[in-house]
Amino acid sequence: MHETAEDAMEETMRMLHVYADFYRETLAIPAIIGQKTEKEKFAGAKATYTIEPMMHNGVALQGGTSHYFGDGFTKSFGITFTGRDNTLQYPHQTSWGVSTRMIGAIIMVHGDDNGLVLPPKIAPIQLAIIPIAQHKEGVLEKARALYDTLSSQFRVKLDDSDNSPGWKFAQYEMKGVPLRLEIGPKDIENNQCVLVRRDNREKTVVSLDQLSTEIPKQLEAVHNALYEKALENLKEKTHTAHTYEEFLDIAKNQPGFIKSMWCGDVACEDKIKEDTGGVKSRCIPFEEEHISDVCPVCGRPAKHQVYWGRQY
Ligand SMILES: [Zn+2]
Repeated sequence: MHETAEDAMEETMRMLHVYADFYRETLAIPAIIGQKTEKEKFAGAKATYTIEPMMHNGVALQGGTSHYFGDGFTKSFGITFTGRDNTLQYPHQTSWGVSTRMIGAIIMVHGDDNGLVLPPKIAPIQLAIIPIAQHKEGVLEKARALYDTLSSQFRVKLDDSDNSPGWKFAQYEMKGVPLRLEIGPKDIENNQCVLVRRDNREKTVVSLDQLSTEIPKQLEAVHNALYEKALENLKEKTHTAHTYEEFLDIAKNQPGFIKSMWCGDVACEDKIKEDTGGVKSRCIPFEEEHISDVCPVCGRPAKHQVYWGRQY
């Protein structure tokens, strides 16, 4: 609760950017940021702001919303405070928070046919150590020594079970572990190991003396590559509609977001939803583009550019 509308709005926007920063910096997920239309905003809110990431199949997920309530609810509930001028006043409210749907976003943005792909900053295991030919003398000892050294710096799992290396590779790929470290008798002879990235399966031979600097470098590279891939997907699956015919054609044939102009009338949103079987406005982005002068649905002058899409 806040004394003034300005304070409440400041917090509403600040929290929206907390979400966006967290999605980008920690989850490696890009998103469109903007304001919900009157039709899609939270009932009773004066304004709803949202971040809208795109899942890898082109479907939108409302990643997190931040609402400015004004004093509507405090008036309904009779919540007051004594202002600086000694009169009773109604505080201005905000409402924000993200939920477990964020976990869904991680799975649906980064996952592939082999299972999870977890961003390194939140992966419960960042590095899986897999000994090769572990029955040979010295291999397990070396793998355990590496585990002891590295686990002070990273979240590490050593799998010294009797399962085959191939089984273990598949297991930690499925769990989305960002990096795998393979070490066998020949590696030990050469004071090296092999690092394999989960996201692109790129292998690097690394000297054991370089591990504490090489692993953070690779984890960062995985994070950046995940973000870039998701951003590329977002760009690739965002289409621009200049006419309503074009809009309907994209909605029918191409998964993803549609960018178009909009007159501001809820009737046009309703018509789009009905004609496309479920496409809704995602948001009016903070950075609007000028696509044309008119709303493609009704032909009247356009007020805003809107992102549209199907949602989970
Ligand atoms: Zn219109």
